[in-house]
Amino acid sequence: MTVTTGPVMGEPLPIELANATYAVRGHLQDGLETTEQLAFWLEQVRSRLPLPPSDADLRDVNQQDLATARELRDAIRALAGAAVDRTAPPQPALDALNGCVRTAPSWRELRWADAPSAEARNDARPITAALADIAELAVDLFAGPALADLRACHAPGCVLFFLKDHPRREWCSAGCGNRARVARHYQRTKA
Ligand SMILES: [Zn+2]
Repeated sequence: MTVTTGPVMGEPLPIELANATYAVRGHLQDGLETTEQLAFWLEQVRSRLPLPPSDADLRDVNQQDLATARELRDAIRALAGAAVDRTAPPQPALDALNGCVRTAPSWRELRWADAPSAEARNDARPITAALADIAELAVDLFAGPALADLRACHAPGCVLFFLKDHPRREWCSAGCGNRARVARHYQRTKA
């Protein structure tokens, strides 16, 4: 059986996780319903994590990890929605995000072989650590300058978030840009 998740599009990791709720032809899809889907999603993004989980770690993904990932995803979606709508952030979403950060505090240690380098460290299970690191990246995203560029895609039926990384970007993807243009053209010709 093929495992599918939401689209992974090179956005910052907290946004990628938020986008594991997505839509296909106007129907909302949940990309994180099973532990297999979470393992597959983590596999797609693991090279971008401070502590990439191994194949064995991914085979170890359990129901508790799934519950944590879903709660974090929904919290980030709620906070991102509040940010783009400029409304008050829901307290339960703030609590869920901060609770996830606290499950696995990470730190960096100095390594010095040929040259000095910083090594990411965490004592928690690798999957717990990965989700806590994504939660902490969400803290940086919401509290940092990138928040000004956070957008919700307004193409018909799309529910994804993206960072407007160049001034003319209006959509999460080229596909959404095309669908929005077709919809506008249809509106004009109908009028
Ligand atoms: Zn879109």
